[in-house]
Amino acid sequence: MLDTTIAGSLPKPAWLAAPRTLWAPWRLEGATLEEGKRDAVRLALRDQEEAGIDIVTDGEQTRRHFVWGFVERLDGVDFSKMVTIGIRADRYKADVPTVTAPLRRRGPIHTEEVRFLRSQTRQRIKFTMPGPMTIADTIHDAHYGSRNRLGMALAALINEEARELAALGVDVIQLDEPAFNVYMDEVREWGIEALNRAVEGLTCKTAVHICYGYGIKANTDWKQTLGSEWRQYELTFPLLAGSRIGGVSLECANSRVPMSLIGLLGGKDVLVGAIDVASDRVETPEEVAAVIREALKHVKSSQIFPCTNCGMVPLDRELARAKLRALAGGAALVRRELA
Ligand code: ZN
Repeated sequence: MLDTTIAGSLPKPAWLAAPRTLWAPWRLEGATLEEGKRDAVRLALRDQEEAGIDIVTDGEQTRRHFVWGFVERLDGVDFSKMVTIGIRADRYKADVPTVTAPLRRRGPIHTEEVRFLRSQTRQRIKFTMPGPMTIADTIHDAHYGSRNRLGMALAALINEEARELAALGVDVIQLDEPAFNVYMDEVREWGIEALNRAVEGLTCKTAVHICYGYGIKANTDWKQTLGSEWRQYELTFPLLAGSRIGGVSLECANSRVPMSLIGLLGGKDVLVGAIDVASDRVETPEEVAAVIREALKHVKSSQIFPCTNCGMVPLDRELARAKLRALAGGAALVRRELA
């Protein structure tokens, strides 16, 4: 009950990539880089296990950016044709590669990472991949001609990959769809269909992570424009309630999302964001517990998974460790109350 997990990423060691930086270039290369990534995964696991996190991830230590880990290994994407585009409705600029031909997996994408992760821990493991709409929003399309067609093509490839990963012993496959908080019409038009396609036939648990972004300035500025109550989830949650996805990871700590909206998820698992990734202050376990107690007013305890609001890759490492401990501590407080 109240098993804890994290949205996905943790900060990387400074010897692997520049700290506090998104899209940070690797500081190692070749075989040394591969060894360094594996060592970083071991440390990320150890940090989660020491803190008492129940369902662990690899901290996304093996990918430069959460979208690129998948896209880098697709045929049809040309990384020599980088284009600067506005992503998330032009909230920020990103240099992205171009889709120039039909997309195909060159082969297994994350198999080796998952095998390694599975071999390094006895805890349940969660593996994260970007969702179809978020990839479609973080790439330049010069082939498919519509985001819908591009998104459905991506969904089919995510599904191929996800089935293989589930067979390797992944307990939860999570698709990250921050774009679902931006393109509300597209979510209805094709986003849910693409998500359903991406998780079709999976026998492991599934979840989708929908947040208001990393704790970087472009996002905190954007949040200032969203008014006193953030109601984006009010449009997507009823659609997700009728989807194949098993759970939803959302931002709750220090957000202006009315907690009552999780009641719209119709019995899905709820990964309640109880750690603010946009603040350098460490929550107290009591503050985490307060968020969980609020969630318990709307969803039964067996379906609540205390979590972080979003990925922690841009944070200081020590800070992230302290936040992991606060998360586990807060969940333990509420567990004791319920027992
Ligand atoms: Zn997020």
